[in-house]
Amino acid sequence: MALQEVYRQVILDHYRNPRHRQPLSDADASSEGANPLCGDEVKVQLQLREGRVNAISVTGKGCSISQSSASLMGEAVSGHPISEVLGLSDRFQGLMQVPPDSSENGYADLGDLIALAGVRRYPVRIKCATLPWITLEQALENS
Ligand code: ZN
Repeated sequence: MALQEVYRQVILDHYRNPRHRQPLSDADASSEGANPLCGDEVKVQLQLREGRVNAISVTGKGCSISQSSASLMGEAVSGHPISEVLGLSDRFQGLMQVPPDSSENGYADLGDLIALAGVRRYPVRIKCATLPWITLEQALENS
């Protein structure tokens, strides 16, 4: 299977079976974000313990890119220290700024998030992919 097909499967899987969708009843921080260009909406709730994201809920509606990115983000940050989460957010948003024809080989630390690398070919969709991360950062600022 070609790499692009693997990426497509990862995105579809997260869109159809989104992770971390269960709302948190005891959230310590939350934020809501929207991408009016595409109609995407994302709500992030965080349960924070000792400098870590102990639990995360990401709900919302919108295109497959925004919703799969939200699910992938939930998997990537759940249980991780806040400092690491902010670093990952920078790395992911940095990848989205790299020209689409350049290799994503230097971004192995992003794990499954790399599946969204192809979004760079569609500049208007980059906002779809970064919306959950920007909303997550806002939630952490509100905490
Ligand atoms: Zn979108």
